[in-house]
Amino acid sequence: MKRERGIRKWERKEKQVKGMAVENKKIVVPGDFLGTTEEFTLGAGVYDEKGNIYAALTGEVRVSRRREIEVVPVVETPPLPREGDIVICRVEDLKDSLVVVSIACLWGREDRSVAVSLPGVIHISNIKRGFVKDLRHEFGILDLVKARVIDAKALRLSTAEPELGVIKACCSACRGDMLRRGNVLVCENCNRIELRKIASDYMRVA
Ligand code: ZN
Repeated sequence: MKRERGIRKWERKEKQVKGMAVENKKIVVPGDFLGTTEEFTLGAGVYDEKGNIYAALTGEVRVSRRREIEVVPVVETPPLPREGDIVICRVEDLKDSLVVVSIACLWGREDRSVAVSLPGVIHISNIKRGFVKDLRHEFGILDLVKARVIDAKALRLSTAEPELGVIKACCSACRGDMLRRGNVLVCENCNRIELRKIASDYMRVA
């Protein structure tokens, strides 16, 4: 412990002596001063102006053992759905006891698509509180659904909360948009009436 603290102290001292302007792994933007050519040799993503080294791009500073300094671009990875997250998905298929959906994005992060290409599933027991006799009365193909992730690995989702369920439904006869009228949905084109597990914030109300 004592020895460790000693090493850290020494490292700090070394940094002070060398006058390092940046620390390893610090995020910098173009034009940020990184140090001088006396301290470092030039790597990728940096430029030298009269002996001063600056970042040429946004990224993470890395200094090699041979004192080569570079800036490695940081790419923001798309968000992955985690347990408890609410996602927006689209109904792709209806099986006897499963709704198969494609996950589009995280709720509140509609600007970014998620980093999953595998389908999510809503089991008949996770559609709503109470018994579901036929899940075709709860979901339709191409409906937009707001659901909670209950198992991030298997991408199992649930809509068994009042604010979860279908937020935009597609008429099964003509594919028209459906408007909410009380507890049912009415197609704005053909007036067909259909049932859904409607989310409390369904998008279009008659
Ligand atoms: Zn219709």
